[in-house]
Amino acid sequence: MTKADIGLVGLGVMGANLALNIAENGYTVAVNNRSAQKIDDFMIAAKLEGLDGKVMPELDLAAFVRSVKRPRSIIIMVKAGRPVDDMIELLLPLLDKGDAIIECGNSLFSDTEQRFEYLTPKGIGYLGVGVSGGAEGARHGPSIMVGGSREQWENAAPVLKAIAAKFKGESCCAWLGEGGAGHFVKTIHNGIEYGDMQMIAEVYGVMRDGLGMDASACADVFKRWNEGPLNSYLIEITGHVLEAVDSESGKPLVDLILDKAGQKGTGVWSAIAAQELGVPATAIEGAVAARSISSRKNERIAAEGAYGKREGAVDISLDDLEKALLAGKIVSYTQGFSVIARKSEEKGWGLELATIAKIWRAGCIIRSRFLDQMAGAFAGDASTNLLMVPDFVTLMKDCHPALRRVVAAGALGELPLVCLSSALSYFDSYRQGRGTANLIQGQRDFFGSHGFEIEGRGADLHGDWPATIAEAAE
Ligand code: NDP
Repeated sequence: MTKADIGLVGLGVMGANLALNIAENGYTVAVNNRSAQKIDDFMIAAKLEGLDGKVMPELDLAAFVRSVKRPRSIIIMVKAGRPVDDMIELLLPLLDKGDAIIECGNSLFSDTEQRFEYLTPKGIGYLGVGVSGGAEGARHGPSIMVGGSREQWENAAPVLKAIAAKFKGESCCAWLGEGGAGHFVKTIHNGIEYGDMQMIAEVYGVMRDGLGMDASACADVFKRWNEGPLNSYLIEITGHVLEAVDSESGKPLVDLILDKAGQKGTGVWSAIAAQELGVPATAIEGAVAARSISSRKNERIAAEGAYGKREGAVDISLDDLEKALLAGKIVSYTQGFSVIARKSEEKGWGLELATIAKIWRAGCIIRSRFLDQMAGAFAGDASTNLLMVPDFVTLMKDCHPALRRVVAAGALGELPLVCLSSALSYFDSYRQGRGTANLIQGQRDFFGSHGFEIEGRGADLHGDWPATIAEAAE
């Protein structure tokens, strides 16, 4: 019997589309899913696309494993967390030494590392792979961030490179580093995605509530911006979302959608990683926090009752909004890449920021024109902080005054700009040679004898503070 080139377990949204993508690229793929219904649905879709000759459905897991060529590569695309571990346990007795599991869900990188440690002594290879691009990306070419052993990567590379998105002919799939590197980079990709989406939503809020623009007028602006420096997938789909009309009411769909967004998984993990590494990622943290606030709808309604509903126009131009969004994005990406660079140092992954920017240029949710500029900037400069790369210094100098005007107008006009304002504060803190932590050090020494440093006099110095607060008041 002919054997499949590769196996894939989990025919949900992502798995089914990835399997069709693999088949379309000429590889035979064996597929399996816990529930039989998804296999049947998948086969109908494969037939409709004329790809059924390249897929081998198998409900029985053992038969599925046997149907794959050895050494086997088995993609797992199930819900992250416990289902991945359960699936590994089910596969383990069916695999042979030298086979490999390629886990492609949104897994926590430390879980990936534990699974790697668990499977390696058993002779089973393990790759932790981040896949971005949603259903459409999975079907027609996602961005693929691979972590794990180089040897396993070399086995899987032909298929993964073939199914990935292409940017000017270059595959948006790369092996990034050992262990959990792929899933860590995917996590931060999603953190950046949170920041992008929140900043876009904030700018939309200024248009809607501060400039009195309806959804269709906002859509036109986003479409126009998509022709310029902000050109990106998220700006493009924002235009489409804003122009959609609800067929039942004839109203703009966006006006009917409840203003509550969840936050979990990768967004929160990005913020936690940044905090644990001591790398400021205020835009990502702000985006996660903004979603938390959004989900507290009843509390917000009560607070609006207590403080009064905001009203009135703000005085800001659309050009300023465009530049403010660009400046906010530069800061957010700076922070995301800094988190990646720091983690890479800690883990010894040797991650190349230019490679990461390159594989994000197509396929993934944050793909943009801007990432091509960033890939070029990182390739030609050793700096890991984008704000210090000459091209971006020039861009930021051009854009930060607009960000300042937008944040000021938002503050005075009572419009929440959680992400944009935190991006601006980060920028202002980062470029301030003499900050204010001297006062914090004084306070810490006052109450806890923590010591401070004075240039030319050394560290661990102490002030001659009064012994008690009462003495200080005298
Ligand atoms: P779906 O909810 O569409 O599908 C989930 C799949 O997981 C189903 O095939 C389901 O099988 C299977 N599954 C769930 N629990 C178990 C279990 N305990 N044992 C065996 N199989 C199980 O998920 P998605 O395709 O959207 O997501 C899959 C992974 O990809 C997730 O990690 C997700 O975070 C990630 N991802 C999703 C993206 C997206 O845009 N949707 C983008 C990038 C990554 P059954 O049919 O039997 O329930």
